[in-house]
Amino acid sequence: WQTLSNRIQNVAPSATLAVDTKAKAMKADGIDIIGFGAGEPNFPTPQYIVDAAAQACQDPRNHRYTPTAGLPELRAAIAKKTERDSGYAVDPVQVVVTNGGKQAVYETLQVLINPGDEVIVPAPYWTSYPEMIKLAGGKPVSVLASVDDGFVPTVAQLEAARTEKTKAIIVNSPSNPCGSVWDAKTTRDIAHWAIEHHIWILSDEIYEHLTYGNTVTCHIGAEVPECREQLIVLNGVAKTFAMTGWRVGWLIAPQYFAQAVSKLQGHLSSNVSDVSQRAALAAVSGDLSAVASMRSAFDIRRQHIESMLNEIPGVFCPNPTGAFYAFCNVTGLLNKPHGPHAAVARSSADLAGLLLEEAHIAAVPGEAFGAQGYLRFSYALDDKDLIEGIRRFKAWAEA
Ligand code: PLP
Repeated sequence: WQTLSNRIQNVAPSATLAVDTKAKAMKADGIDIIGFGAGEPNFPTPQYIVDAAAQACQDPRNHRYTPTAGLPELRAAIAKKTERDSGYAVDPVQVVVTNGGKQAVYETLQVLINPGDEVIVPAPYWTSYPEMIKLAGGKPVSVLASVDDGFVPTVAQLEAARTEKTKAIIVNSPSNPCGSVWDAKTTRDIAHWAIEHHIWILSDEIYEHLTYGNTVTCHIGAEVPECREQLIVLNGVAKTFAMTGWRVGWLIAPQYFAQAVSKLQGHLSSNVSDVSQRAALAAVSGDLSAVASMRSAFDIRRQHIESMLNEIPGVFCPNPTGAFYAFCNVTGLLNKPHGPHAAVARSSADLAGLLLEEAHIAAVPGEAFGAQGYLRFSYALDDKDLIEGIRRFKAWAEA
């Protein structure tokens, strides 16, 4: 008498959400926890977006179901925004609006993957990719990129992982968790490799606007137009416009693929909330000035966190150039006593647990991203908390 399906028993819970939930529960118990766990900008959603949503609430037409694939004006605005930001034309029929970028990834995999198909996932990877691949009946094949290569895989590594069952590769640049950004040459090389071997490219561009210094996001669809028939772009408003809770994402795919996704979504969740879609419409139709000021604030925090982490003995933080994560190597802190009780962490997962219990800071262990020996610190939090949190980490490591 087995109640839960094998499918769900085979899936790990979201490690990032688990850290965040535990940190929030400790906070609720009155413990002063500083949370570096969640990938959630601490800024308010820009006012013009909130105003558009408030107005939409007043309009009785907006209490209805919208077309499954999204409001036509939002699909058109996303197509226009893609041309503006990514540099190539997209037809609105290629766009499907989803409940967050997460649902766009999930639905893409459900529509693409047959049992036994393999999907190459460059690691360190976003924690949900392998679980979603498994939920679609596929097999995630992790390819660990080296820190010396800026956490970007080489074509030789991908080729070594390829089999006749390889159906797709997931590209996530700028990356969660590493904060790395693929350059144009790497993007081209990998896209040409995918074209040669008939491999779909799922390009998760949700952090596209968050790059720093001279680094810019390279959009595969513009860089290698030949791959567009096997390219699915995944995106959303959450990170760019501080809209995590509004739950609006989208995918851009060849038209027949978008139609198949829409068929699935018709049975899954129907449409995204009309009011949220109208907020997203204001977001993607407006200019990028609000984004620019958030990016400047992130950039200052990025520089702080990188230098502060590198001052902690046993910690090495490579320079993050995108997203809002610092992914640091902590192997120098393992297997030695640290902290007020001389505790010994044997793994980065142990270390994250000790830091939460003893230093009252929440970071996500590298195990959640397919890379042991690392901790991920989101710097999408208040400056003061960031400085105090890393100070606590240092004090713990030095004790
Ligand atoms: N893709 C990546 C790489 C992410 O980091 C996230 C969120 O953390 C998502 C997709 C999903 O974003 P959302 O569902 O909030 O739009």
